[in-house]
Amino acid sequence: MSEFKLIQKYFTRPTRHTHLGAGDDAALVTVAESMQLVISTDMLVAGTHFFHDAAAVDVGWKALAVSVSDMAAMGAQAKWATLAIALPNVDEKWLAEFSSGFFACAEAFNIDLIGGDTTKGPLNISVTIMGEVPTGKALKRSGAQTGDDIWVSGTLGNAALGLAHLQGKTMLKNDALQTSIHALYRPAPRMELGLALIGIATSCIDISDGLLADLGHVLKASNLGATIHLERIPVSPYQANHLHQPLVQQCTLAGGDDYELCFTAPPSKRDEIERLSQQQNIALTCIAITHKPAVHLDIDLQAMYQNKPLSLSNQGFDHFGQ
Ligand code: ADP
Ligand code: MG
Repeated sequence: MSEFKLIQKYFTRPTRHTHLGAGDDAALVTVAESMQLVISTDMLVAGTHFFHDAAAVDVGWKALAVSVSDMAAMGAQAKWATLAIALPNVDEKWLAEFSSGFFACAEAFNIDLIGGDTTKGPLNISVTIMGEVPTGKALKRSGAQTGDDIWVSGTLGNAALGLAHLQGKTMLKNDALQTSIHALYRPAPRMELGLALIGIATSCIDISDGLLADLGHVLKASNLGATIHLERIPVSPYQANHLHQPLVQQCTLAGGDDYELCFTAPPSKRDEIERLSQQQNIALTCIAITHKPAVHLDIDLQAMYQNKPLSLSNQGFDHFGQ
């Protein structure tokens, strides 16, 4: 199959808000007046970001979903994407499944695939996503203020637990297994939530590398600290029952791939945030309050056994020995 045919068959679909999509030397789009263009790129490498034998339909979904999550974290409406893909060979079954997963996500979030590049090589998928945000309103990492509440959406650590299961580090069963594997392979980016947080949140990030790492970025950018208590982090029933286990703690605090949003907002917005949670049927949990940077101490996950709070300052992750 020629490269052109492959692109035509698997990566060309009608577009909804694009002047000129795939097929020319470049795509043409119009950004609405009084809006800024928001752009983000993510690469997924086989063996690093997903298992070589992962279902192609899931890889396709996730390749786009992780980028949608970046738009959500900015409070931006995702609209366009490009896809650069290196394939070791033309495996039509794999391509059909990958493209069905990719376009399922594109349809779910109303995104046009407007171009890309297709080459031969070790399996590697790079998506660039573009969206719009009202000028000056994007949710950045740097806007958190002293005394702001720190919120997270959904529950944390499911995806990391699913990965731990696949790596043989733990043996999950029944509901816990299903929930975790689903979280790992089918992340649901919080697009609607991100859009609704404009005017409410002072800063926002999506949790892709784990709560501590990602909240750490916000605190560093905003020059603040926070004290995190493990018990306040929203988790699945399975995790709640096994919170004494180091692996479960590790997944909850530092596990990646959740794609939930972590945002800050002043306490005066609490009612509005509760309403939003009900409207969108998404759990929103206040896990801490920001404060001025604390004394620097080294993080020690083991110390969580003793139920001691962890303190994050702008100097890194700190264990706060109270
Ligand atoms: P060029 O030689 O100008 O780089 P290509 O032959 O690489 O053009 O691509 C032809 C057209 O197909 C372009 O419009 C490009 O954006 C699109 N395209 C290539 N690969 C993909 C892909 N994986 N997904 C979507 N569009 C693609
Ligand atoms: Mg090209």
